[in-house]
Amino acid sequence: MIYCANPAAQFHSHQAEIEAAIRRVLSGNRYILGPEVEALEQEFAAYIGTSSAIGVANGTDAIELSLRALGLGRGDEVITVSHTAVATVAAIEAASATPVLVDVVPGYYTLDPSQLEEVLTTRTRAVIAVHLYGHPADLDVIGAFCSKHKLALVEDTSQAHGSRWRGKRLGSIGHIGCFSCYPTKNLGGIGDGGLVVTNDPQLATNVRMLREYGWRERYISEIPGRNSRLDELQAAILRVKLRHLDSDNAKRRNLAAHYDKLLQDLPLELPQTREGAEHVYHLYVVTSEDRASLVANLNKHNIFPGIHYPVPVHLQAAYAQRVTTALNMGVTEALAKEVLSLPLYPEFPNEDLFRVSKVIEDFFGQSKGRNAKQ
Ligand SMILES: *Cc1c(COP(=O)(O)O)cnc(C)c1O
Repeated sequence: MIYCANPAAQFHSHQAEIEAAIRRVLSGNRYILGPEVEALEQEFAAYIGTSSAIGVANGTDAIELSLRALGLGRGDEVITVSHTAVATVAAIEAASATPVLVDVVPGYYTLDPSQLEEVLTTRTRAVIAVHLYGHPADLDVIGAFCSKHKLALVEDTSQAHGSRWRGKRLGSIGHIGCFSCYPTKNLGGIGDGGLVVTNDPQLATNVRMLREYGWRERYISEIPGRNSRLDELQAAILRVKLRHLDSDNAKRRNLAAHYDKLLQDLPLELPQTREGAEHVYHLYVVTSEDRASLVANLNKHNIFPGIHYPVPVHLQAAYAQRVTTALNMGVTEALAKEVLSLPLYPEFPNEDLFRVSKVIEDFFGQSKGRNAKQ
C-alpha cells in the first residue's frame, strides 16, 4: 500500500531521539506549557527569524488567536482564498470576523491579488495569504496591497514550514504567521499542535495571553481568553523534528524533482515554482482532466493519492449561500475537480516513486491507445 503521507515513517526515522524526548517529559514534572514549550518557542523563532514564537493547541487556533491579537472581531472582514483547508475560513469565523473569499491563480494555486480591489470594503481589516502545498503566495503584491490600505497581513504557513520567499522564511514576512503542527505537516507532532510567530512584541503578548484565559500573571485575567495551550510532549517531539526540518524539506524537493522528470511528458499539469520562491512540497499536486479514472487505476495498484481539496470552501454546505466571494471563482472550481496529491514524504522510497510514476505513465499510454481505436 502506498499512501499520500506516512507520519509513522517520520517517527521511525528519528525514533531514538523522539523516544528520548518523550522519556524526558514523562519524568519531568510539567506536562503543559513548561520548559519544552519555552525551548521550542525560542528555537522556532530563531529558525523562522522572528523575535517571538508562541505555542498553541493547533493551526486553526493559531489563526483565530492571531486575528484576535490584531484586535479583529465582529463586523471585521478578512480576505482569503476558497482553495484552502477549511480550517483557514473556520478560524476567521471562530474569531467572530467575516470571511471574504477570492480565487487563486492558475499554476501556483495561491491567492489571486488581482481580485483584492474588487472585494475591498470599508470593513476589510486583514488578508490571510495561504502558502498552499508548500509554495509561497505572492507576498510582494499582496503585501503592497495591505500596506496601501492599512490592512494586516496574516500568513497561513501551515503547509510551508521552512519555505522561503526572496530569502526570508515564510511566516516572518507579514505582521503575524500561523503554523499547524498536525502530524502530516512538514513540521508535525504526534498529535495536535500549532505555533504563531511575529516580530511585533505587542502581538506576541496578546497571543500569549489569549491562549490561556487572558493571563499575564497566573489566575489574573486581564482580557477574555481561552484555553489553547500546547503540551510538553508535543513540544519536545517538535524540537526533535525541527532539527531535521531543513534536511527533510531537501528530501521532499529531491523526490519532487524525480516526479518532475518522470511525469513531464504526460498530459498532467505539474507543480511550478514562482520566481523568488522556494517550494517545500508539503504536497506534490498535479492536475488531470481525467482524475477519476486515474485515481481508480492507481487504487487498483494499491496506490492511494489524496485530493486537496475536493470541494471549495464557498461551495461547502456550511458556507454556501452565505459566504461572500469574488465574482469569478473559476480557477478554484476547476481545481477542485482536477487536483491530485501524489504520494510524497521525506522517507518515501525511490522505488515507490518510480512505481507510482510507471502506473501513471501506463495509464496514459493505455488511455491514448483506447482513444486511438475509437
Ligand atoms: C492544516 C491546516 C490548517 C489547520 O491546522 P490544524 O492544526 O489542523 O488546526 C490551517 N490552514 C491550512 C492551510 C492547513 O493546511
